Amino acid sequence: MAKNLVVLGGGESGVGAAILGKEKGMNVFLSDYGTIADNYRQQLDEEGIEWEDGRHSMDRILAADEVVKSPGIAPSAPVMKAIAEKGIPVISEIEFAGRYTDAKMVCITGSNGKTTTTLLTYHILKNAGLNVGLAGNVGRSLALQVARDHHDVYVIELSSFQLENMYAFRANIAVILNITPDHLDRYEYKMQNYINAKFRILNNLTPQDAFIYWQDDPVITRQLERIRTEAQMFPFAEHHEPGSRAWVDDEASLIIDTPETSLNMPRAELSLNGLHNLYNSMAAALSACILDIDKEEIREALGDFEGVEHRLEYVATVNGVRYINDSKATNVNSCWYALESMPENTVLILGGKDKGNDYSEILPLVKEKVKAIVCMGKDNAKLLDFFGKEVPEIYDTHSIEEAVAKCASVACPGDTVLLSPCCASFDLFNSYEDRGHKFKEQVGKLKA
Ligand code: ADP
Repeated sequence: MAKNLVVLGGGESGVGAAILGKEKGMNVFLSDYGTIADNYRQQLDEEGIEWEDGRHSMDRILAADEVVKSPGIAPSAPVMKAIAEKGIPVISEIEFAGRYTDAKMVCITGSNGKTTTTLLTYHILKNAGLNVGLAGNVGRSLALQVARDHHDVYVIELSSFQLENMYAFRANIAVILNITPDHLDRYEYKMQNYINAKFRILNNLTPQDAFIYWQDDPVITRQLERIRTEAQMFPFAEHHEPGSRAWVDDEASLIIDTPETSLNMPRAELSLNGLHNLYNSMAAALSACILDIDKEEIREALGDFEGVEHRLEYVATVNGVRYINDSKATNVNSCWYALESMPENTVLILGGKDKGNDYSEILPLVKEKVKAIVCMGKDNAKLLDFFGKEVPEIYDTHSIEEAVAKCASVACPGDTVLLSPCCASFDLFNSYEDRGHKFKEQVGKLKA
């Protein structure tokens, strides 16, 4: 009897899992409580896969032998409770796809920097001629690529949500970039639950596998005192620490030192700026070294990577003022790293939907580098109150048009305008991408 596979969620990962399941001869049923986008409906129809949206038909769902759950569905959702009561195993799309490939898996998690590091690693491997796929939160679903493309290596961005339903999956290279509080609403407001989810990336690692992590992160190092992994350790740090495999030396060169490769590259040659991107570059370079990529190719790719949209993205220089789009900075920690890499006389756009932010983390950098704050949100009261006495100038604006016009009027030639809002975008925009695009559009109008 063919296995009954139920897939919950009709987005990129769910549709990919459904296609792979069908290809493996299973009876597949996909159910989404929301609305499935037209392109995915069409894809499901073309593949002859049964689906529903706007409801969950529980009789069909509870007839499953196994359920593949999309990461966006909370474990506390009623449908998940009913499935758990019936004892039906629930796995993630990555776990499912991992069963059907022998490809090498480079898996990247962390609170910040996942997308950048995943794309940079992919760029290095692709540049070196590997048959490599990009999956997880970026690119197409792993399941679809396993079904159709058959890559030799996958670079996979994994959020804590995806890691939750992974059990037998084994990474060959596991990376944890950093762990700072995020998404705690999903983890009963317990930081340890969130840390545990991130550390699931180490499950099933063997002595042949590698674990790359940031040694300066106290949350990671404390956790490593409690848990054991058989994998080979590749820690990286800003300055050399015991065991470091990557660091920056006194001559401001990035040093990579692994049993396979030693590489020395002036930091100024890295295409990505900022301390956070130094860490991201170290993690990507270490993965490439472990995969035996030639060091000259690694160096070349670290130097010509074009960066990722909405992450410290240079937009334009208008009237001598540089405009930088860091719309993806939706929490205080990522804004800290953006400011860290800015010169003095920065005009900072902050604001949006506050997630209970504590701005004291960025206050010293704001005092050092920010000449004016332009608040941009529906309600700026908290920002105006917190920063009011801390910066020479602060302004209250409620749209991107107003905010960019204000920045243009207060910035002088040589200054930098940085959009790094610390907040989610949903009060004024559809998404952080929408916010970044509208920012670039307004800057474009200044040029005209
Ligand atoms: P993620 O995919 O984890 O959300 P991104 O690569 O999209 O991370 O970067 C999001 C934001 O986080 C960027 O705008 C940047 O300011 C900040 N950031 C990037 N890398 C790091 C890092 N290693 N540590 C801290 N902050 C970072």
